[in-house]
Amino acid sequence: MGAGNLTPEKYYRLPWNLADNAITWLEPTTKCNLYCDGCYRANDPDGHKPLEDVIGDLEQLKKVRKSDGISIAGGEPLIYPHIVDLVGYVTSQGWKPIIITNGTMLNPQIITDLSKAGLVGFTVHVDSHQHRPGWNGKTEEELCELRANIAEMIHEAGRGRVSCSFNATIYRDTLKDIPALTRWAQEHIDLVQTLVFILFRLAKVDPRFDYCVAGRKLDPSEAELLRYNVDHDAAYEDVVVPDVVEKIREACPTYEPSAFLNSNQDGSAIKWLLALRAGRADKILGYMDSRFMEFNQVFHHLLFGTYLAYTRPWAMKNLQFLLPLAPFNGGLRRFFRNWLAEPAGWAKQVYSQTILVLQPPDVLDDGRQAMCDGCPDSMFYKGRVLWKCRLDEIQKFGDFIQSVPKIEAQEEAAPAPELKAMER
Ligand code: SF4
Repeated sequence: MGAGNLTPEKYYRLPWNLADNAITWLEPTTKCNLYCDGCYRANDPDGHKPLEDVIGDLEQLKKVRKSDGISIAGGEPLIYPHIVDLVGYVTSQGWKPIIITNGTMLNPQIITDLSKAGLVGFTVHVDSHQHRPGWNGKTEEELCELRANIAEMIHEAGRGRVSCSFNATIYRDTLKDIPALTRWAQEHIDLVQTLVFILFRLAKVDPRFDYCVAGRKLDPSEAELLRYNVDHDAAYEDVVVPDVVEKIREACPTYEPSAFLNSNQDGSAIKWLLALRAGRADKILGYMDSRFMEFNQVFHHLLFGTYLAYTRPWAMKNLQFLLPLAPFNGGLRRFFRNWLAEPAGWAKQVYSQTILVLQPPDVLDDGRQAMCDGCPDSMFYKGRVLWKCRLDEIQKFGDFIQSVPKIEAQEEAAPAPELKAMER
């Protein structure tokens, strides 16, 4: 899979790995109040886990993985009855709690309670494939009204201390909406710290492959049992990171990423792509470069012992104070050149905002599975730290499914040994 309009060799490879990562995923519940098309988790009405079990997992996790933040997800974590206590526990252990929510249960009271318990931020999943009551059938652009309401509520009830990010699953039919979402995020740069585009993936059963678990060949109908195996569209075609980059650049031609995670099969194949931009609602003044990202990660690790993912909103403001560092960094120099060129804007607040693109697993032509190398969304499950996007396989089959080219196909592709001998 080529990098297209991207130059990964110039980006900073985030140093995140299995044992020492910026984030770890946690699912206290698998119960949800929505049924999104792209969800990888079966919605279980009895899916709340006892708080003691969740805390027990976190105690085990601490022994095997360093982490700066804990992404509390689900299911819908805001319907988990012990969510405030859980956030309090995560805070007490020195992790930054982040809640990944569909936002339906957000209200000023819960935001205040969670903020008091130490919540650092919300990542709110809003997109047009969620069958959201009251918003069903709305386009991505129309849903921006809902996003703005949520961002304002988080800002006000969180008193500016709780960060607000949005993610959206991107399907082939919503790829065209990325410029509008990118522009909307810029217009709300004072309230929205991060915008995440997650590319939809289908667990397709490919007739070229056999599927095996721990040496046992699965019946194709068994592989069909995977939750992600939803028939969305006969003409389904994967969206890849370069497609999204092209669309972001339609809205913001100066867009330039600076950091990435590669696939575990190819050092130049991008799975996570991160850009950090700085500016105001009316103008983006610059994108930070790879050295700036490296400085942040290394400095944070030296100071606090963990790699950095999430910050409070105050850390995304006042970039002007970094002026003394400009002689040492090209990205900052570019930003300050643009900033100084407009004296009318000197008194105005400047904000930073992250744009993240995430390309989930791909199956390569030879059957190898390309996962995110150094997966930040790994979770602790029965003694293992594993990719949360493939938990379904562990739960149904006890291990991950391997896809291997069918023996018959291999024999057809390669001439039999005696024929080879005759050809010589
Ligand atoms: S491997 Fe799966 S869980 Fe991990 S970051 Fe990639 S998509 Fe997310």
